[in-house]
Amino acid sequence: MLQLSRPDLLVTQAYANGLWLDGTARIAVHNPATGALVAEVADCTVEEVNHAIDAAAIAQRDWAARTGKERAALLRAWHDLMIAHADDLAMILTAEMGKPLAEAKGEVLYGASFIEWFAEEAKRVYGDTIPGHQRDKRILVLKQPVGVVGAITPWNFPNAMITRKAAPALAAGCTMVVRPASETPLSALAMARLAEEAGIPPGVFSVLPSSDAAATGQAFCAHPKMRKISFTGSTRVGKILMQQGAAQLKKLSLELGGNAPFIVFDDADLDAAVEGAIVSKFRNAGQTCVCTNRIYVHNGVYEDFVERLSAAVAKLPVGDGFAAGTAIGPLISDAAVNKVRAHIDDALAKGARIALGGAAHALGGTFFEPTVIAEATSQMAVARDETFGPLAAVFRFDSEDEVLEAANASEFGLASYVYTNTLSRVWRMMEGLDYGMVGVNTGLISTEVAPFGGVKESGQGREGSKYGIEDYLEIKYCCLSI
Ligand code: ADP
Repeated sequence: MLQLSRPDLLVTQAYANGLWLDGTARIAVHNPATGALVAEVADCTVEEVNHAIDAAAIAQRDWAARTGKERAALLRAWHDLMIAHADDLAMILTAEMGKPLAEAKGEVLYGASFIEWFAEEAKRVYGDTIPGHQRDKRILVLKQPVGVVGAITPWNFPNAMITRKAAPALAAGCTMVVRPASETPLSALAMARLAEEAGIPPGVFSVLPSSDAAATGQAFCAHPKMRKISFTGSTRVGKILMQQGAAQLKKLSLELGGNAPFIVFDDADLDAAVEGAIVSKFRNAGQTCVCTNRIYVHNGVYEDFVERLSAAVAKLPVGDGFAAGTAIGPLISDAAVNKVRAHIDDALAKGARIALGGAAHALGGTFFEPTVIAEATSQMAVARDETFGPLAAVFRFDSEDEVLEAANASEFGLASYVYTNTLSRVWRMMEGLDYGMVGVNTGLISTEVAPFGGVKESGQGREGSKYGIEDYLEIKYCCLSI
């Protein structure tokens, strides 16, 4: 059992329109490190989802009518409660998702930072005045909330993927219905408990777990009062939502898959590059959409880099997220393990060699050895497809042009990373990489103050920063004849 200072944060009921619902069926939530049952939560029906959307539409009128400052005060209270209960939220997160407790705490603080940021932004939703085009005309531009927003979120960041959407939405005057991943509904429900406690009004923020993701997605797309869907997950499902949403031209924010290149030039600080590669590749056991997937290293420093990377990765402790010192927890599922294995087998068959690891971990279950493979090439599955696991594939390159072309040869365009100490090359890479985000001499780029998002098939829209709230605002042009 989890030793929580607030046991009531382990919520098993759904939260819709300010009411706690038992549901008729249950979703079992298991700890991926042990397989143990953590809790059984309400499994909501499409009818319940539709009611929640209706209620959110009614609640939205009053919520939008409040001043930005009033909404900000409630968001700030929600943020403060999340900070006050960060240890409990982190334990719930590790129990349902498996990431190391310190990383879970980091996620909770990161998640809360979006609420703080957008509470501040709620007061700064500025419109515009435009000089009239005729003598009697005055032109105003109003920014208004989009309306009810549906959020569909993944299991890899059970807390932050929700706050990145809910905070700007609520700040803008939208209301939100969240369908969390069924692997990890507990973090979302704990946040709903704290939202209620903070005084966020009924219907403004609802959380409805459902084991039938496709049915919820369809219900979100079909409900006429649902004005927008914000989704984080695979490109495959993002496309389904875009197709389904087309019937009513639903607005969409999509944070989808990536295939991040990590480029190390021969003038880079290799120790810093190794450190950056580790944090960007092995954070969350490789299960983030900005995780490095392809490490391109200049021929001149290739062997040296592979050796240093392997030595550093060998020191990463693998274990239960609750065990002290764990750096890498279990993967989320057997399917996730099988994908890592398939990428390794495919690479070996096509000429790669294992520099470190390469097999299931002795701990069993879904634990996998942190792995480094050398001599990766563009022919291998790992070059095209996000592994989403603890596998670092190291490719070779000779020239800047060659590596830029290889890095951009992907239908994805989320995060990218470059290590070099040549200023002019930094600019060429920043401008030349077809990605929504570029880390230069750093492997860690996520923060609430910057716009996170992708290009190409990695999605559309931005989360965080002054740009993040725009996803939840409409522009209204008013022409006054005076
Ligand atoms: P991941 O590989 O991260 O699980 P998915 O895109 O499969 O990526 O899942 C992201 C979220 O989308 C999860 O909450 C999942 O349950 C949900 N989901 C899966 N299929 C659909 C669908 N057809 N419509 C809406 N949501 C879906």
